[in-house]
Amino acid sequence: MTSDADIVWDIDYGCYTDVGRVRQRNEDAAKVSPDIFLYAVADGMGGHRAGDRASRIAVQTLHDYLADADSADESAEDAVRAAFQKANRSIIEDASGRPDRMGMGTTLTALIVNDGGYLIGHVGDSRALRVRNGSIEQLTEDHSIVAAQVREGGMTEEEAQNHPMRHVLSRCMGCEPDPEVDVLTGEVQDGDVFLLGSDGLTGAIGPDLIAETIVAASDAATASKELVELAREKDGSDNITAVVVRCTASAAPG
Ligand code: MG
Repeated sequence: MTSDADIVWDIDYGCYTDVGRVRQRNEDAAKVSPDIFLYAVADGMGGHRAGDRASRIAVQTLHDYLADADSADESAEDAVRAAFQKANRSIIEDASGRPDRMGMGTTLTALIVNDGGYLIGHVGDSRALRVRNGSIEQLTEDHSIVAAQVREGGMTEEEAQNHPMRHVLSRCMGCEPDPEVDVLTGEVQDGDVFLLGSDGLTGAIGPDLIAETIVAASDAATASKELVELAREKDGSDNITAVVVRCTASAAPG
């Protein structure tokens, strides 16, 4: 029998982003920091270059907070919540007194995967998905007006996908003083692959094609690049970002 202590986790990750075929600027931002087990995607909004400011501030502040956090002081869940609130305040402060940055905000979806467990922090409509044994599951809930209507039974998935208001968020970073942060935790199984994607990715290609591409790819870097290229071919009207994290367990030697 193998106990958790005898397992070594190999984390293979890839990160790819593309401006798409229509937009002038890439307002998506991604952060990959295997040293602190952190992977994050943010999708910014706001005119006059404010959207890319917001998404970059979000992922950088999150990273800096977690890199400095003393794990003896607070639980991982509390640290992630605090990091999100710090990132939220940083965006609001950066926009304060700057009319050109009015309406600046961003989504933020972060994954921490370590020692056979995962933790996800989430605000907005970027998504965390997981492929396990070939089937794909969306782990996060979209914080958008139309997604809420789908959950309440007022709209079908199909209607939501084509709805003119589908990009309007019900929760975002930088848009209110104290946004509610969804925090999800769970076990990692050998072979699990996590995907963080902006809506330019998940809106362009469906879960089946995402799962197929991830399973067929030789490594996480190839998977992230192929997913973005597929989304660009199919749609490309928005910025596209994919972060892929593949978790493989093996028995520790000796
Ligand atoms: Mg987007």
